[in-house]
Amino acid sequence: EQDVAEYKKSLAIRVSGFDVPRPIKTFNDCGFSTQLMHAISKQGYEKPTSIQCQALPIVLSGRDIIGIAKTGSGKTASFVLPMIVHIMDQPELQKEEGPIGVICAPTRELAHQIYLETKKFAKSHGIRVSAVYGGMSKLDQFKELKAGCEIVIATPGRLIDMLKMKALTMLRATYLVLDEADRMFDLGFEPQIRSIVGQIRPDRQTLLFSATMPRKVEKLAREILTDPVRVTVGEVGM
Ligand code: ADP
Ligand code: MG
Repeated sequence: EQDVAEYKKSLAIRVSGFDVPRPIKTFNDCGFSTQLMHAISKQGYEKPTSIQCQALPIVLSGRDIIGIAKTGSGKTASFVLPMIVHIMDQPELQKEEGPIGVICAPTRELAHQIYLETKKFAKSHGIRVSAVYGGMSKLDQFKELKAGCEIVIATPGRLIDMLKMKALTMLRATYLVLDEADRMFDLGFEPQIRSIVGQIRPDRQTLLFSATMPRKVEKLAREILTDPVRVTVGEVGM
């Protein structure tokens, strides 16, 4: 236990919540498939970043998480890698359609970055990824979603449009990520986020990541997450 405390301190991690899994030291500690380990090394990731060391075991254990760490700390892989595992764990045959993993991001640029990173890890598993954001033809997106996908990465407004058009259903969605939650609030997406969350089954796993944690974001997190573990890396502003 002393070792774990020391290790967390060396990673500049602070954690709160019940029964928090201990941080890992290498990607090998995560029990990832050979394909996933291969994709990780192909990306040039030798060892997990601080947020990844603590977030990966928490998310892999199925827990909800509030992850607070500054830009550039490697938050994307913290939610993308466990999402691949979560999807591969689903029963082969399901009647439902629609994405299993849903990621919301504030801007099309960020959604696109996440899309590119996700594709690299999803490819080797035959997992289909769709990006849904403004600036692309709604008809094309509609068709792509209709063809089916396991992961959708979206800006909130465009995802709502697609849900209204019945381009997809959330019946299969069990893994929801709200990335850059503080920026989504700044951009006025709170109502859209609430609407999307309300359309996803309550027994989902929910992950919220942010660079800062203003009170209103904390309040939303407390409402939509279940027994979350809160992980903070470094110093974080409000
Ligand atoms: P954040 O979302 O916290 O701003 P990103 O997930 O975008 O950070 O990661 C920032 C950069 O670090 C990206 O270029 C990403 O590919 C790289 N990166 C992420 N994890 C690792 C790792 N374990 N080792 C090396 N580079 C990494
Ligand atoms: Mg990010």
